[in-house]
Amino acid sequence: ENVEARPDLEAQAEDEKERLRLEKLSKFEAIQEERRRLPIYKYREELLAAVDEYQTLIIVGETGSGKTTQIAQYLHESGYSERGKIGCTQPRRVATMSVASRVATEMGVKLGHEVGYAIRFEDCTGDKTLLKFMTDGMLLREFLSEPDLAGYSAMIIDEAHERTLHTDVLFGLIKDLIRFRPDLRVLVSSATLDAEKFSAYFDDAPIFRIPGRRYPVEIFYTKQPEADYMDASIVTALQIHVEQPLPGDILIFYTGQEEIEAAEEIFRQRTRKMGGKIAELIICPVYANLPSDMQMKIFSPTPPGARKLVLATNIAETSLTIDGIRHVIDPGFHKQNAFHPKTGMESLLVQPVSKANALQRAGRAGRTASGTCYRLYTAWSYQNELEDNVVPEIQRTNLGNVILMLKSLGIHDLLNFDFMDPPPSDAIVRALEQLYALGALNDRGSLTKLGRRMAEFPLDPMLSKMLIASEQYKVSFEIVCICAMLNVGGSLFYRPKDKLIEANAAINSFYQGNVGDHIGLYNVYASWSSEEVNFASAWCMENFVQVRSIKRARDIFDQLVNLMGRVEIELISNPTAHDAVKKCILSGFFYHTARLAEKLGKSGQAVRTAAGSTGGGGPLLYKTIKAPQQSVYIHPSSALAPKPPKPNDGGGKDGSEGSGEMLVLPPRWVVYHELVYTTREYMRQISEIESKWLVEVAPHMYSEKEIETLNGGDGDKMPNRRGKGKAAE
Ligand code: ADP
Ligand code: MG
Repeated sequence: ENVEARPDLEAQAEDEKERLRLEKLSKFEAIQEERRRLPIYKYREELLAAVDEYQTLIIVGETGSGKTTQIAQYLHESGYSERGKIGCTQPRRVATMSVASRVATEMGVKLGHEVGYAIRFEDCTGDKTLLKFMTDGMLLREFLSEPDLAGYSAMIIDEAHERTLHTDVLFGLIKDLIRFRPDLRVLVSSATLDAEKFSAYFDDAPIFRIPGRRYPVEIFYTKQPEADYMDASIVTALQIHVEQPLPGDILIFYTGQEEIEAAEEIFRQRTRKMGGKIAELIICPVYANLPSDMQMKIFSPTPPGARKLVLATNIAETSLTIDGIRHVIDPGFHKQNAFHPKTGMESLLVQPVSKANALQRAGRAGRTASGTCYRLYTAWSYQNELEDNVVPEIQRTNLGNVILMLKSLGIHDLLNFDFMDPPPSDAIVRALEQLYALGALNDRGSLTKLGRRMAEFPLDPMLSKMLIASEQYKVSFEIVCICAMLNVGGSLFYRPKDKLIEANAAINSFYQGNVGDHIGLYNVYASWSSEEVNFASAWCMENFVQVRSIKRARDIFDQLVNLMGRVEIELISNPTAHDAVKKCILSGFFYHTARLAEKLGKSGQAVRTAAGSTGGGGPLLYKTIKAPQQSVYIHPSSALAPKPPKPNDGGGKDGSEGSGEMLVLPPRWVVYHELVYTTREYMRQISEIESKWLVEVAPHMYSEKEIETLNGGDGDKMPNRRGKGKAAE
């Protein structure tokens, strides 16, 4: 029997293999069919001929016409990759990964082999890689090691209309490079119509237009300004879902991950209440730190009888095209960084979009059929309040990192660098000053040894400095952990409503002893990576830590350890040296310091006169230390934020809870990681410092006298508030 069965099984296995091969083949064929249906396909030969003829080409085409996914493949198919890699830059990480993965599928190869991608802290390419997708920031870094981009035969600067800081700097470098690399092909691709500007900048490079198809989109405005766009967006979406026939997916634009997660939660609650009375609503969040398994979900076709609801940041404006969207809801806001060269203050602000953004957003509804766009603002506001275009990032951001890179490339005369739209000279001067203060430049403006080491890190110069300072203070391990954690992006903890007390207790335990946010972050990472825990996911569940976020921290940690090796800094750990850790942070972040600007009463609450301030129990006022002094506040999420007095919850865990709780005074001097502006200017990720440390780590910036005066101005001398007598548990 056995002898009989064996060949039978073998044959079966063969059949199965063949079936799978055919199925795969037909899937592959189906994708090729899809490729041929894209608007760009008709222009394939013409485009290739133009690339042959002209070294630089500006390509303009409606979003979704196939620029990003097809052009690199066309170049590859016509033999460019025999002479070198084909590169394609993207402003956003998620788009970079998603596009690379799509192209790998279209070519029937494994991601990371012929088609790969590189984003900060993640390199998914190999020796075989011919098509390389990367963030614009990564290509900038490649210039450092290969200033002539010798490994490339063609470079596509994609999504040029986004005008990110890195893309704008790339323009300058590439424009310079093409004179020395006549064989290099450069394609600048953009979704909007101001291609003339790109063309003029690149010495009148020809413009190749890809006519797109577009269906009419009907636009609705609100009659009155919306007080709460979040609520309005949810109501509108549910109304569409209930009233409009299927199919037709919905896309809502939010400003960031937090907003998207909040909206997702509300949608889940409300649809649960509506129960079986409505069609299924498949909720797909899309934002910068979205893990790759969830990215797949966005593109999977909506099953019949259901509706997809995409909650996206402006990443879905042009970078990603999701088929099947017929309703767009546009609250009219996005997050943008703003930088004030005069004060050196930088923050992320929620701001109204421009008309150009609004137009792109609406356009997403009309790709496959006619659609509708609901703008949650008035027609008047659109006409009179929205700017025509967004100001290019280079004109509203801190230039420190970019200038450090340009200096490393040997570009000294920054004021005369050929920028498409130059940054304000204030901002350049400010960045040079900052790099000088950090010790990266000498008084002639040339890179120092320290500056050269700092340039190895793909980080803000303040963070790079902090890392390098850790050598001197012998806490490099702790600082690398903190740096990795600060770069995770997205939320680290989660606090489910039904387990709030447990979650808070678990999370608070990392911050025991009032160590502040930075050391708290270290405690989280150190516990998870300890020998006993050994990166276990179960530990994350027990401690209400987001597995995904901390896994990302691990990747970043590994990369940083590599880079520390490159600058020859050994990893040394000294986990109890909290002051040393804070001094390292301060060595990089001495600009980001503030001191308490209110008098405290016995209870640790501010003593406020009626005329003094906003009155009531608003957060404590801090002032940044360097002139011009700015008013800032501790972010409520900080471990150092004064906690509202607890209602006496009687049976606390132990005797020290409740009314007998130790009084913890607010920190007087703090160093903060960043400022975020919501209702006021908030400092996020904060540690308490001693004022005299400022003189120690940045003597050229702070004098003892200055610090004394500031301290004297506060009146009474305060004892060290980190009372040694604090109960251990
Ligand atoms: P453009 O760059 O001109 O905006 P793209 O090349 O990004 O256009 O998109 C072309 C088509 O490829 C779109 O229909 C889009 O939906 C599809 N596409 C892109 N990425 C994916 C993906 N990961 N999965 C499925 N389809 C995708
Ligand atoms: Mg594109």
